[in-house]
Amino acid sequence: MEKSIPYKIYLEESEMPKAWYNVRSDMKNKPAPLINPGTLQPMTAEELAGVFCDELIAQELDDTTQYIPIPEEILGFYKMYRPSPLVRAYCLEEKLKTPAKIYYKFEGNNTSGSHKLNSAIAQAYYAKKQGLKGVTTETGAGQWGTALSMACAYLGLDCKVYMVKVSYEQKPFRREVMRTYGATVTPSPSDTTEIGRKILAEHPGTTGSLGCAISEAVEAELKLDGYKYVLGSVLNQVLLHQTVIGLETKAALDKYGIKADMIIGCAGGGSNLGGLVSPFVGEMLRGENNYQIIAVEPASCPSFTRGKFAYDFCDTGKVCPLAKMYTLGSNFIPSANHAGGLRYHGMSPILSQLYHDGLMEARSVEQTAVFEAATQFARVEGILPAPESSHAIRVAIDEAIKCRETGEEKTIVFGLTGTGYFDMVAYEKFNNGEMSDYIPTDEELQKSFDTLPKVDL
Ligand SMILES: *Cc1c(COP(=O)(O)O)cnc(C)c1O
Repeated sequence: MEKSIPYKIYLEESEMPKAWYNVRSDMKNKPAPLINPGTLQPMTAEELAGVFCDELIAQELDDTTQYIPIPEEILGFYKMYRPSPLVRAYCLEEKLKTPAKIYYKFEGNNTSGSHKLNSAIAQAYYAKKQGLKGVTTETGAGQWGTALSMACAYLGLDCKVYMVKVSYEQKPFRREVMRTYGATVTPSPSDTTEIGRKILAEHPGTTGSLGCAISEAVEAELKLDGYKYVLGSVLNQVLLHQTVIGLETKAALDKYGIKADMIIGCAGGGSNLGGLVSPFVGEMLRGENNYQIIAVEPASCPSFTRGKFAYDFCDTGKVCPLAKMYTLGSNFIPSANHAGGLRYHGMSPILSQLYHDGLMEARSVEQTAVFEAATQFARVEGILPAPESSHAIRVAIDEAIKCRETGEEKTIVFGLTGTGYFDMVAYEKFNNGEMSDYIPTDEELQKSFDTLPKVDL
């Protein structure tokens, strides 16, 4: 095989993006605004200021600025672990005997093990700049909490993490990494907040959910002086920060004159996928180019493929604003699948609008098939992938196999968001043949849809 494209395409420091790309600026149909559940009016900057940092609110509400400069301090931090490589998966291609050309953008090459550090450092930076003492947040699988702990340690901020109880117990080493970086980690639901106590009283023995941990983290922030709340996905600002992934990917492809046909990413709250595809979607929106974009989600938590496009609460305690998104309902608690980062009931409002407008498609995949793909990938490409990332691997492999059958030489790019070293309990289940594939029934989903807030706008 001719290998004029290197196995790994790296950018020079001077070629790294210096501004984030705001895809909303090129969207004709803007994502719907966050609304205040009391007044049903769009949330104003003043209202959001109770919860979020000022500069991040400005980014959240900015639908028009195309490029937002990345502050020098953040660029400096990025240089510690970026640019991340765009890898040509020659070994996987050979194994699959496919004429497709497969590339993956690998975001697991930092201690937090995922792309989440890209937004964690930005959010911590703006909190610091505003003179805050610290931040509160939730974490599901632990990747966001880990990334934020690292960013806060670097900037000298306090970090309080509410960690979904099941992960807290199943992933003690993740918890310990966070504590090593100086964070305080509380299993959620806890008795340290009113909402936590309420949920514990209503559901004794519950192992928690992301929606519940968000409510606790927001309540904690409201009661603490000098703290704000930060969130690792879903919000426009997070997707904005994650565009470094897509901008680097595009620069690396352009450097070698490569045109992607298909871009694939896993979707939990939508931040990595949104970050990866934004610059490409921008070209589509401006009529310059065309790509097939595929979001991959777990069949156990199918927000895009089976959810409703509606205003919903972002958290279980209903303390957060309403967002219009593809949602399974804020009461939906997905079965205990092993991709904790993909268990959120909702989806980024930006991606929801793009999906609604037909700019991207979505597929749901079952857990066992995901781990089959993860294992296959690990054995030929060397990297042990995170279960979340392996959703994208599954569909990339499926598409490459289709190319083998049709003889098409498609160029497939997918996001490899992180490594799976803290997910060995999941791999163990798979290796023991004990993994199950739970898919919610229509009746279960309907029960949750019935509780969607009745918002008529
Ligand atoms: C959090 C996480 C995801 C999913 O979150 P998005 O906001 O949808 O990107 C995917 N992969 C990894 C490794 C994660 O940590």
